[in-house]
Amino acid sequence: MTTLVIAEHDNAQLKGATLNAVAAAAKIGGDVHVLVAGANARAVADQAAAAAGVAKVLLADAPQLADGLAENVAAQVLAVASNYSHILFPATASGKNVAPRVAAKLDVAQISDIIGVESADTFLRPIYAGNAIATVQSADAVKVITVRTTGFDAVAAQGGSAAVEDVAAVADSGLSTFVGREVAKSDRPELAGARVVVSGGRGLGSAENFKILDPLADKLGAALGASRAAVDAGYAPNDWQVGQTGKIVAPQLYVAVGISGAIQHLAGMKDSKVIVAINKDAEAPIFGVADYGLVGDLFQVVPELTSAL
Ligand code: FAD
Repeated sequence: MTTLVIAEHDNAQLKGATLNAVAAAAKIGGDVHVLVAGANARAVADQAAAAAGVAKVLLADAPQLADGLAENVAAQVLAVASNYSHILFPATASGKNVAPRVAAKLDVAQISDIIGVESADTFLRPIYAGNAIATVQSADAVKVITVRTTGFDAVAAQGGSAAVEDVAAVADSGLSTFVGREVAKSDRPELAGARVVVSGGRGLGSAENFKILDPLADKLGAALGASRAAVDAGYAPNDWQVGQTGKIVAPQLYVAVGISGAIQHLAGMKDSKVIVAINKDAEAPIFGVADYGLVGDLFQVVPELTSAL
């Protein structure tokens, strides 16, 4: 039994989500290999080889793998798939783009968004926006799985000493072409992997008022998030949305400001280690999941909290 984890990277840096997927692979048991498909990506392969618990790294290095085109990456995974009992992807935008193609070509059922490993064929995954946890057992010969990264603590980035093996890159599928990429730039940590998140809701009232959260986030070294109501109202950018239809986060500290705590929002943050809620309505459902609740007007409380910090 050997598990292949598909690395997420930008050809220079291994993304943290890969280390969470390696942790899930380690729970399955057996050897853990990592596939790095990229261009000029040897540094990434070296980083993967240093991750704790990785036995071998496969490096497929070619220009047609530079931009993570799903058709080419899926073909690369399929080229080595026959050696593996399990193939794991982080449940990120790119992992979710490639995994279904691999599962379909192997004619197996994908197991999506796992948060726990019961045994080599049985996994836990949230359903109904996280209100129930399904235990799913797969009889497929190869298990193609996406891993909810917040469900598994990342393995250490250092400490391993796996060998890096070059594998032949697949030919360009010719099915898609990379045109360009617009990446949001921010000095703040990436929302999905941040240790601290400060999120604002409709209670902020406007995009201008939303800026009241900046100094608090600065003090805490936090990423900024938002409820869907705040995003829909134009107070915050789309990629800040936390929840069922946004990002799933589980930071050490989540500060919810002017957010009522609808189940669709809780689905994206309730696994945070410590939750702080600031809301003027003492009956707001967010207080049901909060470790610390502050009932008060955010426009008074947030500046006070920031200056106290
Ligand atoms: P509200 O519910 O309007 O709450 C605002 C809060 O601010 C209130 O509790 C109020 O007491 C408080 N407040 C107001 N003024 C102040 C003040 N001065 N000081 C302190 N507190 C104040 N939502 C998400 O967040 N993420 C999702 O991914 C998501 N996906 C969804 C998917 C579906 C299919 C559906 C149907 C809904 C989804 N929603 C999602 C929407 C969700 O149901 C709620 O509508 C939304 O989360 C509410 O956002 P909110 O808490 O900011 O706003």
